[in-house]
Amino acid sequence: MKNISIIGSTGSIGTQTLNIVRLNPDKLKVLAISGNSNIDLLEKQILEFNPKICAVMSSENAARLKARIPSSTRIISGMQGLLESVCLPEIDIVVTAISGMIGLQPTLEAIKHNKDIALANKETLVAGGRLVMDLAKKHGVSILPVDSEHSAIFQAMQGNLSSAVRKIILTASGGPFRGKKREDLLRVSLEDVLKHPNWSMGEKITVDSATLMNKGLEAIEAKWLFDVSMDQIEVVVHPQSIIHSAVEFVDHSVIAQMGYPDMTLPIQYALFYPERISNHNPSLDLSAIGNLTFEKPDLNTFPCLGFAFEAMSIGKSMPIVLNKANEIAVELYLKNRIGFIEIPELIGNVMSRHTPIDVGSLEDILAVSEWTANNIRSN
Ligand code: NAD
Ligand code: MG
Repeated sequence: MKNISIIGSTGSIGTQTLNIVRLNPDKLKVLAISGNSNIDLLEKQILEFNPKICAVMSSENAARLKARIPSSTRIISGMQGLLESVCLPEIDIVVTAISGMIGLQPTLEAIKHNKDIALANKETLVAGGRLVMDLAKKHGVSILPVDSEHSAIFQAMQGNLSSAVRKIILTASGGPFRGKKREDLLRVSLEDVLKHPNWSMGEKITVDSATLMNKGLEAIEAKWLFDVSMDQIEVVVHPQSIIHSAVEFVDHSVIAQMGYPDMTLPIQYALFYPERISNHNPSLDLSAIGNLTFEKPDLNTFPCLGFAFEAMSIGKSMPIVLNKANEIAVELYLKNRIGFIEIPELIGNVMSRHTPIDVGSLEDILAVSEWTANNIRSN
């Protein structure tokens, strides 16, 4: 039996993780869950899974939830609550299903308490990659990828030495605006942006997929997870989302992982690694799919992907600025305060005004993030 904590249990990855628990009650037990504001869903999850702890961000929401549920689940609030929810002694693995770099602190806390991490929360690695990976090494914990591309790479690497990796081929669906030009993007609606062709996900990552920032964040995530340089990462647009990514080795053999776009497999692979367990997914029918196609990404129309590579080549604090600027820009966009094409404008603008500094600690990262929030503007 594996005991798990899920940070962000009410979201897309969180609810899909709970589905896997539901199907494997003899293998997984939920000890802690957490969420931001959806206390109706947290209430249902508590009644079904009876976790020891549930963390809710605001204290008012925590008090409202507490009045509705049995006393066997302790309700805690704020960042302190989130931190407590990952470090109960019996927890084996923490699923980071929270969205945004708010996940950094609980991830570091979990590692300090020797918990393995099933990592969905890519913003954490973009902002704090070195800190997270160094701490994980020090505590001997595994960071198991949940992101489908990184799960594919991880699966392709099994049985191979990391020194034999020549290149990572990171596939991208291209998002809802593949093939469009910048002028076309002036007229897209929020509804168009949120209509991803292949995946159903939370709003933030869906916007990131439309700007291609998601692929940029994933390239940085891959750099940290697999200890490669950014030059070793090639992004290829593959609209069918069947090949989830591939690894080329020094002998030019390329190993790819395939499947229908469905997060069940990457989540369960991370939870049960190195074991593979059966599930109810359909078998891949290649002849029904017919064609798998590939093309180069269009960096002129989708500058966010280029910004991510640029931020990593500059290094130091720049990836933190990239990530925070993107989080703020996406939030402004979702609140209808800026247009779709202003997302890259805001990010490029604040990056150009940032003088990179060395970052060594969580405090440094939070300070750069605050600098970004104070300096982001569209002119
Ligand atoms: P989502 O928006 O559906 O869910 C986010 C979860 O985080 C919710 O439970 C929400 O309550 C919680 N949360 C957000 N802010 C919070 C706060 N301040 N305090 C406490 N809880 C908070 O997002 P998602 O699509 O599930 O994505 C989660 C993470 O996984 C992201 O980093 C995303 O990039 C990554 N990811 C998602 C998918 C996917 O298919 N959805 C695939 C790969 C990677
Ligand atoms: Mg992905």
